[in-house]
Amino acid sequence: MTVLLSPDAIAARRPVARASLAPLARSLRDELAPLLDAGTPWIPAEKARLTRAGGRCPRDGVLLDFDPWRPREHRCPVCATSYRDEDHYRWWVMNYQLWLAERSAHAAALYVLTDDVPCGVLAADILRGYAARYASYPNRDNVLGPTRPFFSTYLESVWLLQLAVALDLLESRDGHTALGDEVRERVIRPSATLIASYDEGSSNRQVYNCAAVAAAGALLGDEGFIAAATRGPSGLATLITSGLLDDGTWYEGENYHLFAHRGLWYGVTIADALGLSLPHEGLRRFREGFATPFATALPDFTFPSRRDSPYRVSLRQWRIAESCELGVARADDPRLFAALAALYDRRVAEGATARACSTAEAERNVAPVRLSRASLGWKSLLFARDTLPPLAERAQKSVHLAGQGIAVFRRDRARTCIALD
Ligand SMILES: [Zn+2]
Repeated sequence: MTVLLSPDAIAARRPVARASLAPLARSLRDELAPLLDAGTPWIPAEKARLTRAGGRCPRDGVLLDFDPWRPREHRCPVCATSYRDEDHYRWWVMNYQLWLAERSAHAAALYVLTDDVPCGVLAADILRGYAARYASYPNRDNVLGPTRPFFSTYLESVWLLQLAVALDLLESRDGHTALGDEVRERVIRPSATLIASYDEGSSNRQVYNCAAVAAAGALLGDEGFIAAATRGPSGLATLITSGLLDDGTWYEGENYHLFAHRGLWYGVTIADALGLSLPHEGLRRFREGFATPFATALPDFTFPSRRDSPYRVSLRQWRIAESCELGVARADDPRLFAALAALYDRRVAEGATARACSTAEAERNVAPVRLSRASLGWKSLLFARDTLPPLAERAQKSVHLAGQGIAVFRRDRARTCIALD
């Protein structure tokens, strides 16, 4: 079975990765260089741990920078102090495990699309490393649900999803191997069983539990896993028709929308690849969900700090551009073309996108920088359109998001707005 794309669909992507998206392929390859040069990837012996102190500067209260190459040195972006406490290391382990798992999907995509053999070896080494290590992490000292490498189930879901995609990509090229059996037996099945045992109802976290269990079901040929993840009471069909409101927003608000919608993308894409049908209305809401983050954006292109959304986060993130690209890969949408015109604005100052520190879907946001199609991620290499139509910015209009209960009135070519919640 197939997780995201059939072997034929992957083969059809190879000319795109070598032509119009070659700058993206090259930039993704450059970013893997340190890991490719480092030999067998290092995997921490300790499980991640959530504490009050871990990961934050005690003076400024901000998250410490994540650097995958510095496990024992954690720098504050505000006061520049470096901390070496064990609590910070155990928080860092969470980011590192997600980062490394995502690198397996990243490397496997480059291998199957560009014949880059060292990338294929790296992806296999990461999978082999986790197959050897997974059972050694104790399923205890958790916060939200059972898990071995992490402290909450949904984090293990995000992690497992990356490994499942990586294995599937490798097998689309090399067929079934002994490594595939080992990863299925020692990681995919036990991890999916653990995730499936913890139903988080209508939480945004359940989106990732469903996607991971569906991906595992596809790899294991396990119809029970697939049915529960897609048609079960808290499955994908329910999440896209009730977690997403009729205006296409995730019911928990802007901050959760971005995280949940990226997870729904995996779920819907896996269902597509398996030939499963989903409710028409849910798919309409899902398509609408690509555009809604821009509907409520403030004039400075940040999203509103409603509820527990972080303060003044810019939409100018590579991950947001990737979401638009994945949206227009499914269907034309003038709102997304306009958003891409804004995101790819050449007048914005250049800077670090922080893609190199991407921790799969549990990312942190950075200051706005200039983006291009070469800033996108491995998912875009697999799914983004060969070419985009000419992009032109257009001012956001007034909107009423009836489901969310938010009206945004815009005037003066959207330079002024009032939002009523
Ligand atoms: Zn500080």
